[in-house]
Amino acid sequence: MKLTDTKNIMVYVETKDGAPVSVALESLAEAREIADERKEEVLAVVIGKKDDVVVNTVIEAGADKVIIVEEESYLFEKYAGILKELVKKYKPSIFMAGATLAGKDLTPMVAKEFETLSAVDVLNIRIDGEKVVLTCPVYGGTILNDIVMNTTPIVMTVRPGSFSKNIVAGRKGEVIKEEIAVPESVILSKIVDIIKEVAETVNLEEADVIVSGGRGMGSKENFQLVQELADICGGVVGATRPAIEDEWVPRSHQVGQSGKIVAPKLYIACGISGATQHISGMIGSGYIVAINKDEDAPIFDVADVGIVGDATKVIPLLIEEIKKLKE
Ligand SMILES: Cc1cc2nc3c(=O)[nH]c(=O)nc-3n(C[C@H](O)[C@H](O)[C@H](O)COP(=O)(O)OP(=O)(O)OC[C@H]3O[C@@H](n4cnc5c(N)ncnc54)[C@H](O)[C@@H]3O)c2cc1C
Repeated sequence: MKLTDTKNIMVYVETKDGAPVSVALESLAEAREIADERKEEVLAVVIGKKDDVVVNTVIEAGADKVIIVEEESYLFEKYAGILKELVKKYKPSIFMAGATLAGKDLTPMVAKEFETLSAVDVLNIRIDGEKVVLTCPVYGGTILNDIVMNTTPIVMTVRPGSFSKNIVAGRKGEVIKEEIAVPESVILSKIVDIIKEVAETVNLEEADVIVSGGRGMGSKENFQLVQELADICGGVVGATRPAIEDEWVPRSHQVGQSGKIVAPKLYIACGISGATQHISGMIGSGYIVAINKDEDAPIFDVADVGIVGDATKVIPLLIEEIKKLKE
């Protein structure tokens, strides 16, 4: 089905542990700017139990209207079915979701339904007259591609950390409750049980500080220094793929193209060379510190501060200095 006469921007707001995920709030801020420029509205979609705190946050983050569909836990076909129905009813010209696992699952389904395209990992949106120009990374982030779609809705996932949140306290908005029944026949999967893996408790995407270690840490014992530095900085541990493959840290800590896309305020890279597959996952960080014994390591090209030295010697010194500052 093709959609014409589209208007307004719809943002799917994913929630986790009872709060909107950061990238949803960032997307709302960007949607707000575009909507103001085009004199349109921002429609936020929240699927789950109605929660006044979530609704308020979403309105303060930029939504004019919050559409709530009460549903139990995430089921791909059901959520996709709900979003398709909402897009059909509200006819947005732009549909945004965060580039999270769920967002990447759902957006292609919406795009397929309306015979349009789905842009992935959007880093920037520029309005050029009637055109909406989306900047997306390709080839592991080595090239940035500008995309213009000539079908609507323009469907996209937004990379975490690409836009800044803009929470305006006291902002007012409207709440709309929708009931959407997705036919049982389209639901092919079934939740048998929900198990929260201990390893999954790390929330890299929402962390303000990430200390990551790579192969240069040398051993699982040395990798413990990365954890100690993260602890003293109030941060969490990230890792490169080799550190995961050597089982120094669980897979849920992997940062990069095949891991998590992160955008903390501070990213400390220890013994990491700076391969594009790693850089593409952390380049959105606010401030990057790199420790590497090779002064020509590519990680220094993206670092704000570079320390040339042996990480196993530099990290204990950093920990000592931070302890002194905290006393
Ligand atoms: C399809 C695909 C997807 C991938 N996805 C990811 C991904 O999501 N995330 C990811 O990280 N990688 C990913 N990779 C792997 C990626 O290409 C690199 O191999 C990896 O990022 C390198 O990890 P590293 O920096 O830990 O190791 P290396 O490249 O081996 O670098 C180790 C660095 O440590 C330095 N060093 C050594 N000893 C010390 C010391 N004592 N003190 C300080 N520095 C020291 C060295 O100078 C070197 O620069 C992917 C690869 C492919 C092909």
